[in-house]
Amino acid sequence: MPAHTEFKSANDAYVSTFGDKGDLPLPPAKHLTVVTCMDARIDPAQHLGLKEGDAHIIRNAGGSARDALRSIVISQRLLGTREIAVFHHTGCGMLTFNSGQLRDIVKRSAPESTSAEVAKQVDGIDFLEFDDLEGSVKEDVAFLKESPLVLPETTVSGWVYEVETGKVRMASRSRLSRMAR
Ligand SMILES: [Zn+2]
Repeated sequence: MPAHTEFKSANDAYVSTFGDKGDLPLPPAKHLTVVTCMDARIDPAQHLGLKEGDAHIIRNAGGSARDALRSIVISQRLLGTREIAVFHHTGCGMLTFNSGQLRDIVKRSAPESTSAEVAKQVDGIDFLEFDDLEGSVKEDVAFLKESPLVLPETTVSGWVYEVETGKVRMASRSRLSRMAR
């Protein structure tokens, strides 16, 4: 049975305790954007104590800041966020492959009729894998601080989440936020 067949009953239970969350304003109350991995074991709202209305949470494979840039621009320019926290995590799938290998997997499975188009499209994707967990967090923080599309007054911090323990630890913090504290 597809998972979606359980949505309706789960949602009925959720709606019964929805309360006044329909009145929440659109801009995040904490002026915060979190970028984190799509990993199914991670519940960023729970592990960071965030409630509905508090923050934008952008999720993608690896918690890539580059991949999240489109959403970050919208978050900052239209919805007033001024702080970004980037999370990568232990045991991440992004540590286990490289873009060349994944492109080959996709190409090998393509039927003859679409193989040229599949190759063209997949060769254009940087899957943004990494082999150094802490280093990748620092790189993403540096990327955000250097990006001309990110507001210069943004406080950026970088974190590692441990899937084994649920603990978070800071891996990098931008100079601007350090001076402000
Ligand atoms: Zn991951």
